[in-house]
Amino acid sequence: MKLPERGRPWPDIEAEMLSRGSKDAKWRDGKTAVYVFNAGEDIAEVQKQAYAAFMSENGLGPLAFPSLAQMEKDVISMALGLLHGPEGATGAITSGGTDSITMALKAARDCARACGKLDGAGNIVLPQSAHLAFDKAAHLMDIEVRRIALKQDGSYEADASAMGEACDSSTVMVVGSAPNFPHGIIDPIEELAAVAEKRGVWLHVDACVGGYFAPFARMNGLPVPAFDFELPAVHSMSADLHKYGYAAKGASTVLFRSEELYSHMPFDLAGWSGAPMKTPTLAGTRPGGAISAAWAVMNYLGEEGYCHLQGRVCATREKIEDGVKALGFEVLGNPMLGLMAFRHPELHAFAIYGEIYRRGWFTSVTKEPPSLHLMLSPKHADVADDYLADLGQACNAVRNGEAAKKKPVDARYS
Ligand SMILES: *Cc1c(COP(=O)(O)O)cnc(C)c1O
Repeated sequence: MKLPERGRPWPDIEAEMLSRGSKDAKWRDGKTAVYVFNAGEDIAEVQKQAYAAFMSENGLGPLAFPSLAQMEKDVISMALGLLHGPEGATGAITSGGTDSITMALKAARDCARACGKLDGAGNIVLPQSAHLAFDKAAHLMDIEVRRIALKQDGSYEADASAMGEACDSSTVMVVGSAPNFPHGIIDPIEELAAVAEKRGVWLHVDACVGGYFAPFARMNGLPVPAFDFELPAVHSMSADLHKYGYAAKGASTVLFRSEELYSHMPFDLAGWSGAPMKTPTLAGTRPGGAISAAWAVMNYLGEEGYCHLQGRVCATREKIEDGVKALGFEVLGNPMLGLMAFRHPELHAFAIYGEIYRRGWFTSVTKEPPSLHLMLSPKHADVADDYLADLGQACNAVRNGEAAKKKPVDARYS
């Protein structure tokens, strides 16, 4: 496309955009189990209106926009209230999980340098199931990544003792996930905490996809193990508002046990021609709408609303677990929240993935071991039966060799 010489009326443009969108994955109908968190029309409306209300404002300017500064403080305080943040704990809103993880790693690295524990680039020790955002962040900072194999007992949990052995004097961070993305399993954070304490290393809990889910699952009576600041070894956490916080996209939280740990995150340099500028996170300009929408949705839902929605997601996951087991699948480990992965003893997951995709479902896969992957939203309660029926048909198609005759579907993220 070339920039048009003259503009055209908005109704034309809007119609063209909607028609382009009509070929996208059918997330509004609950046909997508990755990328989108569909919690219903009322929440979508709150997101939109709250985003639009502060769309032009910029979180880079807390003095110009004390409204946004206070909303950010409120969101962080609500987050810390959910995740056992002790007195003095603090944090910031970032643009997403990758941003939160990058900033936590930068803070950990700079903290190690500030107290004279590190002169080189450092390394980070993480389970094989931890998110790739850590590798990206480490790549940016030239930090070495040490990925450690999971426990081999079918739990798909991080192997804390092997991770401890991988630590040395240059380790700036040990990571656990609550839960991990590939299997939806909460790592044994208590075991990791013991290892981190013994080695004197910063422990980060990546609760990007569980931070705004696990606390409510626990309130609903699920036996969620300790995973947050309740454990004194946990130095920092990442928790995405734009996942199970049901906020508009472009919003996550990075949280620190204390002001001291947080102080290694902001960038504050005056050495240029312009006015001095202090940025807490990776971004310069920070979209006001992402902050206001998160604040609004949290106030709209409250504890009661989140408990209700997360309860619905867990019930749907249990129903799908039962359904896939009845179809002969094995569910990996013991998922407790909104994510799950499952594999079939005879039929290859990626072949089934292709068949389920052809039936209109945009889901995902896990590579190790090859499995089907679902990240469930409240909307999926309405379509779980349809999914299971289509999954049964997809299995039959693979079993009968029909799938082999068709062009394979590429199960990738991009
Ligand atoms: C989604 C996710 C991330 C990355 O978050 P983005 O918002 O996509 O950058 C990191 N860790 C886990 C466990 C996640 O689920």
